[in-house]
Amino acid sequence: MSVTITFLGGADTVTGSKYLVAHDKRQLMVDCGLFQGVKQLRLRNWTPLPVEPSRIDAVVLTHAHLDHSGYLPLLVREGFTSKVHATHATRDLCKILLPDSGHLQEEDAAFANRHGFSRHAPARPLYTRNDARACLRQIKGAAFGRVITPIPGWRITFLEAGHILGAASVLLEVAGRRILFSGDLGRNDDLLMRPPANAPTADTVLIESTYGDRIHPKEQLLDELGPLLKKASARGGVAVLPVFAVGRAQALLHAIELLKARREIPRPLPVFLDSPMAVHSTHLFEQHPGLHRLSDKQSRDLSRCATMVASTDESKALARRRGPMVILSASGMATGGRVLHHLAHYLSEPRTMVILTGFQAPGTRGASLASGADSVRIHGRDIAVHAEVAQLQAASAHADAPGLIAWLRTMPSAPEQVYVVHGERSASDALRRRISHELGWRAVVPEHGSIWPT
Ligand SMILES: [Zn+2]
Repeated sequence: MSVTITFLGGADTVTGSKYLVAHDKRQLMVDCGLFQGVKQLRLRNWTPLPVEPSRIDAVVLTHAHLDHSGYLPLLVREGFTSKVHATHATRDLCKILLPDSGHLQEEDAAFANRHGFSRHAPARPLYTRNDARACLRQIKGAAFGRVITPIPGWRITFLEAGHILGAASVLLEVAGRRILFSGDLGRNDDLLMRPPANAPTADTVLIESTYGDRIHPKEQLLDELGPLLKKASARGGVAVLPVFAVGRAQALLHAIELLKARREIPRPLPVFLDSPMAVHSTHLFEQHPGLHRLSDKQSRDLSRCATMVASTDESKALARRRGPMVILSASGMATGGRVLHHLAHYLSEPRTMVILTGFQAPGTRGASLASGADSVRIHGRDIAVHAEVAQLQAASAHADAPGLIAWLRTMPSAPEQVYVVHGERSASDALRRRISHELGWRAVVPEHGSIWPT
């Protein structure tokens, strides 16, 4: 009996990762992500899955980012009752990220109702904070490298992917087939994370392609970030950094700490981390030593090098402070969260420096800012952009095209089939061509919703 994969998300796009593996009336879903970005994609979150959630036997998460985990509360509310397998750190991060995601969904719905945006009256959230809390009970933590059996006869192993804390590639063995899911792969020279583990032998590989058409510049994070912060602080401006609460926030804090130690930026320059989620995630580095490159002392320093902003009142009080200062705040693509208040407040001020810190999906405010928009809409108001906007090239938590190829080359033998996923169409196509030309392997870019053999 064959083993098939249905690409329910993360195919043709970077978000919404959901790969349903089916064999002999059993079904396992690898990743359970939210679609994010342009409205047309976000609407997919509202379309019921082609599979009854109650008929799925297990879920496996590669990592905690919402585009890999954020659909879980909905899957559980709609009837999924079995276990969700993830690494220990991923489970800990989900406890922080998923309830916050529910909270944001509720806020968006309430905001739409107050301002009459929604076509539905009243607008309802995709899921609530309580839905998110309820699904956490089903997440079971596992160690890297240990074989677990989510379904009788199905074996999975988590391998380090070097992307964020707890991030894994997943090897699934079923019916004599070995299927390798890369998950999001980190880079070899990340400040915080160790490089991805070598890829094991597999028959079928699903590889991400976020930067499948890119070569990261040799630029190191410190060389890029230092001059920008120095410039902003010299003119008394505020540096606003929209950050991904998990991963990039911590890498940037560590980088700022190093820049201060090297006296490349003024030691007294005040730094604020204004994201409760990022604050909690920062503490997790202390709780999971050995999963990253930081020493115990460096992990502790990470929590001390910035003023952690807890309450909304403290967050709003930041707007009354004068520069120079640095504010790191979520979300990383400026799609929501507290960073919106800071952007609304500081974007029209020419002394401000906005530093984008990672991939900006099309349709997000971050992408508009990166492309030089004159204004962006925040909370129903058009805000003129007079601030300087910079985008860090070195801050990505993803491998570039040569990095992805190098990871595939670590496989002891060629797989029969490679599926290129988790990328915009052009990036996935570029990586597919590279895999055929450089490795001579069969590679395809599956379409959203399509079913393929393994
Ligand atoms: Zn990710």
